[in-house]
Amino acid sequence: LFGRIGFIGLGTMGSRMADNLIKAGYEVSVHDINHNVMKMFSDKGILTEDSPLKVAETSDVVITMLPSSNHVLDVYTGQNGFLSGGNPLRPWLFIDSSTIDPQTSRKVSAAVSNCSLIHKRDGWKAPAMLDAPVSGGVLAAENGTLTFMVGGPEEAYTASKLLFLSMGENTIYCGGSGNGATAKICNNLAMAISMLGVSEAFALGQSLGIAASTLTKIFNSSSARCWSSDTYNPVPGVMDGVPSSRNYIGGFASKLMAKDLNLAAASAKETGFWCPLTSQAEKIFTELCNNGHEAKDFSCVFRYYYSGKDE
Ligand code: NAD
Repeated sequence: LFGRIGFIGLGTMGSRMADNLIKAGYEVSVHDINHNVMKMFSDKGILTEDSPLKVAETSDVVITMLPSSNHVLDVYTGQNGFLSGGNPLRPWLFIDSSTIDPQTSRKVSAAVSNCSLIHKRDGWKAPAMLDAPVSGGVLAAENGTLTFMVGGPEEAYTASKLLFLSMGENTIYCGGSGNGATAKICNNLAMAISMLGVSEAFALGQSLGIAASTLTKIFNSSSARCWSSDTYNPVPGVMDGVPSSRNYIGGFASKLMAKDLNLAAASAKETGFWCPLTSQAEKIFTELCNNGHEAKDFSCVFRYYYSGKDE
């Protein structure tokens, strides 16, 4: 159905997503600038290529899972990038699952759709690109339970749904190009602000004399109830099995949250949209990272209210 699949970016998330494609029986070839990770794949008998261009020349569908916008631009439009070999192209579908800004997604998608195809598909004049960032961390990538938020042409989304379902359990179509990227940064923006709101309220409550466990009971049966209070509580000792109860180890790193808030703030700036809480959240999470907490789960923002004081 999909032919050969090329996968670029075999880091924390990508290596596990590529493994799930392989387990599902797809013929996969891979590329990463990290030679150690390439060796891990070649040791498993997986075809490794030494550039994105080589992957594109031998694949029908390509998927990227890269750190940031610049890496995506490089892999698509840089030297030895997907589009550097001239027109027409072999892949009919390009999927980018990296978390990047919607403006870059739209730019890359336009460059892809300006090309033509070696092997025509029914009704397809040009290759298509989908921006398909994911929700869910390392465990979801490993267990194949990611949620994909997908932007781009709807016929490309429909044609690739099965592929997404071999790496995840949910796919949501978000509309045109860039809308998957938009959904991802807006989701994480709301998550950051709600975590900050709950942390601030708990910190104030404690300073006024109420126990966090009592306040949690109130929140969870009242109008302040949210994911940050009932599933991922930031106060150590209130809930078992969450990062706050193991010194904020594991979970979603503060540096990734700072990155996502930076993307939201940059998008707001670019469109001239006023987002006062975004700027404040970005500032607080950046400060947390600069103070040495970049690898800790983002719910450690609760500690921000006690920084410099004895808890
Ligand atoms: P990572 O840094 O672990 O992996 C990125 C990989 O890309 C590395 O192996 C790196 O060598 C490779 N790479 C970088 N530049 C390259 C290039 N030019 N050509 C080929 N390979 C290149 O990152 P990750 O944690 O896997 O995250 C990937 C993306 O997913 C990011 O955009 C991140 O924000 C997003 N994300 C991460 C998580 C998470 O929990 N880690 C969750 C959701 C979304």
